[in-house]
Amino acid sequence: PVDRLPEIQAARLKLPVLGEEQVIMEAVRENMCVVLCGETGSGKTTQIPQFLYEAGYASGDGIIGITEPRRVAAVSMSQRVAMEMNMSTRVVSYQIRYEGNVTSDTKIKFMTDGVLLKEIQKDFLLQKYRVIIIDEAHERSVYTDILIGLLSRIVPLRRPMKLLIMSATLRVEDFTENKKLFPRPLPVIKVDARQFPVTVHFNRRTPTDDYVGEAFRKICKIHRMLPPGGILVFLTGQAEVHSMCRRLRRAFPFRSNRTGLGGSLIYLNLNHFCIYKLNISPFGDEDRQAGIGDEEDGSDLDLELGDDPGDEGLEKCDPMLPLYVLPLYSLLAPEQQGKVFRPPPAGTRLCVVATNVAETSLTIPGIKYVVDCGRVKKRFYDRVTGVSSFRVTWTSQASANQRAGRAGRTEPGHCYRLYSSAVFSDFQEFSEAEITRRPVDDLVLQMKDLNIEKVVNFPFPTPPSMEALVAAEHLLVSLGALEEPPRVRSAKDMERVRLSCPITPLGRAMAAFPVAPRYAKMLAMGKQQGCLPYVITLVAAMTVREIFEETDRPAASEEENAKMAQRRARLGQMRRLWAGQGASLLLGDLMVMLGAVGACEYAGCTPKFCQENGLRYKAMLEIRQLRGQLTTAVNAVDPEARLYLDAKMAPPTESQVLCLQQIVLAGLGDHLARRVQVEELLDPKWHNGYKTPLLDSPVFIHPNSVLFKTLPDYVVYQEVLETSKMYMRGVSAVQEE
Ligand code: ADP
Ligand code: MG
Repeated sequence: PVDRLPEIQAARLKLPVLGEEQVIMEAVRENMCVVLCGETGSGKTTQIPQFLYEAGYASGDGIIGITEPRRVAAVSMSQRVAMEMNMSTRVVSYQIRYEGNVTSDTKIKFMTDGVLLKEIQKDFLLQKYRVIIIDEAHERSVYTDILIGLLSRIVPLRRPMKLLIMSATLRVEDFTENKKLFPRPLPVIKVDARQFPVTVHFNRRTPTDDYVGEAFRKICKIHRMLPPGGILVFLTGQAEVHSMCRRLRRAFPFRSNRTGLGGSLIYLNLNHFCIYKLNISPFGDEDRQAGIGDEEDGSDLDLELGDDPGDEGLEKCDPMLPLYVLPLYSLLAPEQQGKVFRPPPAGTRLCVVATNVAETSLTIPGIKYVVDCGRVKKRFYDRVTGVSSFRVTWTSQASANQRAGRAGRTEPGHCYRLYSSAVFSDFQEFSEAEITRRPVDDLVLQMKDLNIEKVVNFPFPTPPSMEALVAAEHLLVSLGALEEPPRVRSAKDMERVRLSCPITPLGRAMAAFPVAPRYAKMLAMGKQQGCLPYVITLVAAMTVREIFEETDRPAASEEENAKMAQRRARLGQMRRLWAGQGASLLLGDLMVMLGAVGACEYAGCTPKFCQENGLRYKAMLEIRQLRGQLTTAVNAVDPEARLYLDAKMAPPTESQVLCLQQIVLAGLGDHLARRVQVEELLDPKWHNGYKTPLLDSPVFIHPNSVLFKTLPDYVVYQEVLETSKMYMRGVSAVQEE
């Protein structure tokens, strides 16, 4: 019995999936696996778990599990559903990599897809669950794909168990028509969205690279000239989002009215809150001078130094019309993310500046205008060398249409595409499944641990490339996680046996750690000389992305440039301090990471300490959580370790440093680079360069590295990231024997 508030019930009734409840529940009753397609906002994520709950699927022993590709969605959707059902978060809960609120009373559990994959390792049959819902399957994230492959085998073994695959697009043939996956085509239920027409406006010409400036001008125009209704802007990354927010706030200052806001977190009347008035008494001169009054500043924002180049020359907008500007991207703190669901303050227009999180997983109410830059930022890997780079590329037609659709949820809307229709017709039709675009060594290890020896035979919705599978198996053999393939004569035989190497006991131990196989190897080796606490910290720091504040962005002005150079110098000094003296210098950037984490924990891991020392606060918190998690995992693998987490570590002794160096080399052995000697310098491009076995061109030590001044003869690196040059990241020296 669910006791919902009347307002909630009324709002639910307007959702398209409500009309299909019977059809959906009947299909679920009669089939093991069902696919549900419905436009974003039709109510899939929030309502389907409730239907299942009310139909009794969580009344016995089993619970309802829902996977999301993004942490944001797992957290916010669990809270939303708890609220709609008027139930405690002890019952409707979430679990993401670092945290969760699941209890023994939990009946509906939202989690990231990675979390469920780990659970399959512990309990292949997923005995806890009565129903599994795979949400956002159209996103084709690697873990989602693998889960569908695994569940296609698990569900038939667990007879009454049900599997629901939910997608925001109709492109589901990779699941339904894939005979290797499901021998019989799956039933597909389509929910018609209550979508209002969206008029799409293409640019006549496509701006070459200043799409951010173009977006800014478009927003200004919409805001000054068009009737009320929220604006949703799609850009490519966090830095762009923040700089756009700053520009907009400067152009249309808004200061929150302290008495009017706050309080109630739940707003239900989503349709009529964009009341736009030209007569804005609360925003007098005094308020306006206070400038950006949003609470957003002071948290993440402070870490983003500097402003944008050249706003001054752009159109001056009328500052009398306040715009309520909110950023939205995956790494944003949940409280900040939650703001987009609430109506903007009276007398303002909502403008959400987002990355593609807003494309499908979150529905922002009240959006009438979409501004789409047409681009997306993605990480690209070189399949052979593993070198990666972040690149901004055109998105797919399917994604662009999803973005446009965001404008028509509550009334007819408009989508402004900052590119021409000719460019649009050149977009690829759909985005590729992630599994075809990245290395798969972690997946292969997980699968081998599940006793799937011949990974090539796995029912992937879309299989990874043969090259990627071979590279993964090769790496795992070299790390000792898989047995060496037996000697064979022909190359063809070679291929065959190489892709079916069984897992070793070391490989099993490695698979228990929730980190990449290279780092898992370091953990598995870390017992010597009491090094484990250091190895755990190092692995945590290498796993969490971007722990240092970025100091290399182009500056807007001379003055800012000078400020930034000053800060760089100060942070450089700090890093040299963390790198220590004598033997520890050998560990280079890795020692800096250890020192940074130690110093930060010593200072109580405060936002202030992080800000002052150029560390990303959120990253430091994640490192702390991951250290705890890895400590638990190490104890589980080896109960004799009896490790406990001492957040504040003393620096390693000299013999420990040497030992750490060996451990690092064991994990990163194939990432060895040799400095090019002067006598070899035929081509000036090799100046200060390093030679690696896989690459024809040189790689370099970044000026921010503590090893930049010494340039050791041999180094190992964490990864090569191509920016202005091929730079090694996480570099440490290797001593010659
Ligand atoms: P789907 O999964 O099909 O995209 P959802 O179930 O996520 O749809 O959303 C259904 C409706 O619930 C949307 O119209 C959205 O506006 C509303 N909604 C979802 N989450 C929240 C929230 N946190 N606050 C207010 N409304 C929300
Ligand atoms: Mg959804």
